[in-house]
Amino acid sequence: MKKYNFNAGPSVLPREVIEETAKAVLDFNGSGLSILEISHRSKDFQAVMDEAVALFKEILHIPEGYSVVFLGGGASLEFCMIPYNFLEKRAAYLNTGVWAKKAMKEAKNFGETIEVASSADANYTFIPKGYTVPSDVDYLHITTNNTIYGTEIKEDLNVDVPLIADMSSDIFSRPVDVSKYICIYGGAQKNLAPAGATFVIIKNDALGKVSRTIPTMLNYQTHIDNGSMFNTPPVLPIYSAMLTLRWIKKLGGLHVMEQRAIEKANMLYGEIDRNKLFVGTAAKEDRSRMNICFVMQPEYKDLEADFLKFAGERGMVGLKGHRSVGGFRASCYNAIEKEDVQALIDCMQEFEKMHS
Ligand SMILES: *Cc1c(COP(=O)(O)O)cnc(C)c1O
Repeated sequence: MKKYNFNAGPSVLPREVIEETAKAVLDFNGSGLSILEISHRSKDFQAVMDEAVALFKEILHIPEGYSVVFLGGGASLEFCMIPYNFLEKRAAYLNTGVWAKKAMKEAKNFGETIEVASSADANYTFIPKGYTVPSDVDYLHITTNNTIYGTEIKEDLNVDVPLIADMSSDIFSRPVDVSKYICIYGGAQKNLAPAGATFVIIKNDALGKVSRTIPTMLNYQTHIDNGSMFNTPPVLPIYSAMLTLRWIKKLGGLHVMEQRAIEKANMLYGEIDRNKLFVGTAAKEDRSRMNICFVMQPEYKDLEADFLKFAGERGMVGLKGHRSVGGFRASCYNAIEKEDVQALIDCMQEFEKMHS
C-alpha cells in the first residue's frame, strides 16, 4: 500500500533523493565503495560538500559575505552556539513555542535575555505582533515556523537589530531575504535531509564581537575556516541534502516551492474549515504552510482515535498531533505532493460521511 508520510521530522524526502542516496550507500560515484565508508577528506566527498554549499547559496540567493556550514548537534546545539558567538550583553527572544523557549533558556547562561513577546498563555496558537525590540540588543531571535503548534512567520521581519532565525522546519519553502539576518540555522531533518546534519548560514562580519573565549568546536569561525571539515562532518546527510537541493533547483527554486506550499496548505485548511468534524488550532493569519494542526470539533472529540485508525488504514502516516496540542498534525514539507494532500482530504471526507 502506498504510504503518505506526514511525519513532522525526520520526515518525507523526495523519492529520487532517497533512491540516489540508496545507490550511493551501495556504490558511491562508481568508486566501488559505499559513501558510508569513504573519507570525508576524499576528493569525491569534497565535491559533494562544495556543491551542497554552492546550491545553498544559489537557491537562497545568499549575498556575498555570508558562509554556509554543516555541523552536527542539531538545531538544539545551535540554541547554545548562538549566544556563545553573538550575545555580548543582552539578546531579545520572541517566544512562539517550545523550541523558541529552549533557545531562550540557553541564552540566559550568557547574558541578559529579553522576551519581547510570548503567546504561551494561548498555548502558542498565534504569532505575537506589535511588540517593540530594545534597540541595544545584540540580536533578536525568532523561530520562523513553530513545528509543534503550526504557526509560521511567513515574511522576513523588518527590525532595526541583528536578526537570527531558527528555520528548521520551513527552510527552502519560500524565498528568504538573507541580508536581513546575521544567522539562519536549522536541523536538516525537516525539509532537507535525513537526521544528523545542521545547517548554519552566518554573516561573516557579525562574528568576533563577543569578549568571551569560545570553545573551538562551538566557535562558528572554526567551522567557516575549515569548510565544515574541522572534524568529521555528517557525510551521508550532507550528500542527501545536496540531492534535495538539486531537486529544488530542477523544479524551479524557491518561488516554485512557495507556490506548491501555498496550494497544498490552502487545500488542506480549506477542508479543515469546511468539514464539520474538524477544526484548526492556529490563528488563521498565522497558519503554517508546513505543519497543519487540527483537532476534532468538541462534539466529535471521541472520534479522534477512530480517525487516526481510519486514516492509518488508508496509508496515512505521522498524523498524530504533538502531545502538547493533541489531535492531528499533517506536515506538508516540500516533498509532499498535492496528490498526497488530496488523499488525506479524501479520508477526511469519507470519515465525515460515515459520521453524519
Ligand atoms: C525540530 C526542531 C528543532 C530541534 O531540532 P534538533 O535538530 O532535533 O535539535 C528546533 N527548532 C525547530 C523549529 C524544530 O522544528
